[in-house]
Amino acid sequence: MIYDYFHYTELDKSFYEEKLKNRMPEDILDAHTHINLLEHLKDIPPERIADDWALQSCMHMTAKDAQYYYSVLFPGKNYRNAAFPFPVKEAKLEDNNDYVAKCVQDKSIAYGLMCIKPEYSNEYIREQLTTKPFSGVKPYPDMISGKKGSEIGIFEFLPHEQLLLTEKLGKVVMLHLPRAGRMPDDNNIKELREIRQRYPALKICIAHMGRCFTPYHFELAIKKLGEDASGFWFDTAAVLNPEVHKAALSLLDHKHILFGTDEPIFLWHGRRTWTKTTYMNLAREDFAWNAHTEGRDKEAEYTFYVYEQINNILTGIEEAGLGEDVKRDIFHDNAVRFYGS
Ligand SMILES: [Zn+2]
Repeated sequence: MIYDYFHYTELDKSFYEEKLKNRMPEDILDAHTHINLLEHLKDIPPERIADDWALQSCMHMTAKDAQYYYSVLFPGKNYRNAAFPFPVKEAKLEDNNDYVAKCVQDKSIAYGLMCIKPEYSNEYIREQLTTKPFSGVKPYPDMISGKKGSEIGIFEFLPHEQLLLTEKLGKVVMLHLPRAGRMPDDNNIKELREIRQRYPALKICIAHMGRCFTPYHFELAIKKLGEDASGFWFDTAAVLNPEVHKAALSLLDHKHILFGTDEPIFLWHGRRTWTKTTYMNLAREDFAWNAHTEGRDKEAEYTFYVYEQINNILTGIEEAGLGEDVKRDIFHDNAVRFYGS
C-alpha cells in the first residue's frame, strides 16, 4: 500500500537532478529502515500513535513498497535497504520478524534484523538467529516503557545474556538509546562503556547518531565516550542537521558511519529547525502533529526531508575535503561491512 500523501513534484525532480543525482554514489545501502505488513500493526492502540509524531507520519511499508518509493525518489540508482520491524510493543513482532527473514531470503531487502524483547529466552533467540537469515538484533526501549526517551537503562531492554549471546553468534546490534538526555546522558555513557568493555567483539550500531539531533549533544557524547567512541558504529537515520554530520565526519572514523533514513517515517516534504538542544519538524503534508508553522506558501518550496538529509551529508563530506571513496563507504560499503559478516 502506497501512502496517498506521497507525491513527487517538479521541484523534487529538479532538486534531485541538480543537487543529488551526480553527487550520490551509484550503489546505496540504506542501513536503517522498517518494513512490515499491515496486519502486523493492527493491534497498536490509537493512543500510542497519537503520542508519537513518527508513527503518525508513516508506519507501514512492505519491502515492495520500499522499492517503489526508492524508484521514485532515486531513479537510476541501485538503492537497497537493511530493514527490521517497527519495534512497537503491541505490534505482531514475531510475525513481522518472520516477514523480514522471508524478505532477506527472497532478496527483496539486503539485510534484516530480528526485533527482540527482553523477556525472550536465549533459546528462542538462538534458534531464530541460527535458523533464519538475520544479521542481528534490534532491541528497543519501547519494549519496556512504551514511550520515547524513557528514563530506563540499556540493560533493562537489552539484558546481558542477550548481549553475550549476540556476541557469541557473531551477530550485530542496532541500538536505540533511551533517556531524555540522549547519548551524552551520564548513565548512557556509563552503560555504553560497560558494553564496550564486556563484549569487545560485538558489532553495535548506535542508531540516529545516539539520538543526537544537535551538535551540542553529539559533541558532548563523543567527548564523554572518549576512546570507546571508536568501538561503535553510528547511523544517520533521521539526522538532518548539517552541523551534526560535520561533527560526525570530524570526530568519528568515517568507516563507522552508516547512511540510514528511518523510512517509511520520512516520506514527506519538509525541513527541521533547531535550538541548542531541540529540533522542530516542518512539513507540507497534513499530519496531526503539523502546525504548518511557516505557512502554505513557504511549504510549497519544501522538497523531501530525505533529499535535504542526503544533501547535507554530501555537503559535509565535500566540505571536509573527502572524496568519492568516502561517499561510497558511508552510503554503501560501511553497511556491507557492518551487516555482512
Ligand atoms: Zn528507526
